[in-house]
Amino acid sequence: MTDSETSEQLYPRRVYPMDAHELSEEQIAVAFAMTSRRPEAFDEIAEQVSLEKAAAFNERWVLGYGHASVAEHAVVHMAVENVSRLACDTLEDNRLASYTEKSSRYQVMPEDYYYVPEELANHPALKKEYDAACQGLFQGYMKLMDGCIEHLKETTPRIVSERDGAYNMRLRRVATDHCRAVLPAATLTNVGVTANARTLEHAISKLVSSALIEERLLGDEVRNEGRKIIPTLIKYADKNEYLAGASGQQLDLSRKYGFPPEEPAVAAAVSGDNAPEVRLVHWDRKGEEKLATALLYRHSNLSYDQVWERVNNLGPESRQAIIAECTAGLGPHDAPLREFEVMDYSFEFMMDYGAYREFKRHRMMSYLPQPLTVVHGYRIPSVVADAGLAAEFEATVRPAEEAYWKVQEVSPLAAQYLVTHAHNRRVVSKFNLRECYHLFKMRTSEEAHFSIREPISEALRLAVEVQPQLFRHLKLRNYPEWWPHSTED
Ligand SMILES: Cc1cc2nc3c(=O)[nH]c(=O)nc-3n(C[C@H](O)[C@H](O)[C@H](O)COP(=O)(O)OP(=O)(O)OC[C@H]3O[C@@H](n4cnc5c(N)ncnc54)[C@H](O)[C@@H]3O)c2cc1C
Repeated sequence: MTDSETSEQLYPRRVYPMDAHELSEEQIAVAFAMTSRRPEAFDEIAEQVSLEKAAAFNERWVLGYGHASVAEHAVVHMAVENVSRLACDTLEDNRLASYTEKSSRYQVMPEDYYYVPEELANHPALKKEYDAACQGLFQGYMKLMDGCIEHLKETTPRIVSERDGAYNMRLRRVATDHCRAVLPAATLTNVGVTANARTLEHAISKLVSSALIEERLLGDEVRNEGRKIIPTLIKYADKNEYLAGASGQQLDLSRKYGFPPEEPAVAAAVSGDNAPEVRLVHWDRKGEEKLATALLYRHSNLSYDQVWERVNNLGPESRQAIIAECTAGLGPHDAPLREFEVMDYSFEFMMDYGAYREFKRHRMMSYLPQPLTVVHGYRIPSVVADAGLAAEFEATVRPAEEAYWKVQEVSPLAAQYLVTHAHNRRVVSKFNLRECYHLFKMRTSEEAHFSIREPISEALRLAVEVQPQLFRHLKLRNYPEWWPHSTED
């Protein structure tokens, strides 16, 4: 650098998008990857990376030497249509991707909008029963929709100056929210997926390793279409023998140790208006100490052990004061500091399949669902019951439950297609305090669907019961009556 030159003149700051119209996703990924060894600017490197060179680079470094993170710079937007919700759950079970799915809250599903599993291809009589059960559910859905809308018209006053269209739309929204409960996991859906090549490879591998035929076929199609955009990066997305064998092993172990799946004889009846079944199974009893330590650690130069020891000697009041000061400035849309990730809560939920499908959208957590089953019964949504349609609801669901047990004898996995959105499912889930703030705020609000609002509100109550101070400054959209803190700031 000469006296007249500044570092800014020599090395001017540049920020620019790599143009996905001019470069393929694989070229962009390679241009980014090469910066670790080459001094030129990204656009200069990109000019030298032909499609062939990008392929050769990826073959050698990503596939050959396993530098898989390069693949994260190649992004794919994949439109996936007319897959069952069951298969869609597996496609979406990759927490690093983004998804938007057709909503059964905002759309009325057509009558024949369901998947028939290939597993039944050699069982024509059973296939017929399956078909009849699905048709029954969809016809019941339509009847319940009509009945609920009629009931809502009688009981829902119009808002002043509300036009016919808006009023009818409002009632239809309430009806779809409640009547979707009878739709089965076989119901078709569309989903838009945005994923980087590394995540997509994992998603494909998971799908093609599945024991369900539809999921394997879906995995093949995602791979074929994905290869048109990122041919080398998902070249070897293939069946993973470990994944494919794991669930069978887990099932064998469950049997060996006496926890087999339940039998029809113990199937629960329709559950009534009970409080949602939620248990706080583990929580961090040293959470307060951990959080206060993390908050003070960041701006100290002491070791973790030293900060931990000092924080433990401070006593609870000082620790709570530290935490309170670090949360007091939180605005309604702010996430708390990353330090809130150091402590976890594990909950076991019994929630219906509809609620589960919303719950699993939260990616900053671990969740372990049990298979879909009719064993744990279902809840009849309140508007359906208020409309005097409880018997209609039960009559709609019963044949599907009967068909479920018959299909189960041939294929327990395929039987899951007949489980409705109203049926309960057990899921255990662990999330950190930071995610608690986000999840509790979002899913306890009045706009959340009631089927998820109820279990999440109960989870909030249980967490606040054991560690009230940690939630003192949580900003909820709607505070419950039992809220122990002041809500005025
Ligand atoms: C499987 C799936 C299906 C979905 N389907 C629909 C749909 O049909 N309609 C619809 O409107 N919405 C849909 N979404 C969006 C969904 O409603 C929200 O993603 C969900 O409520 C979770 O909230 P969140 O994204 O704020 O964060 P969480 O996943 O709970 O994570 C907490 C925070 O982490 C950060 N974060 C998490 N993941 C990412 C990421 N990939 N990139 C950047 N930041 C991230 C964000 O700050 C986020 O607020 C879907 C999401 C998923 C995962």
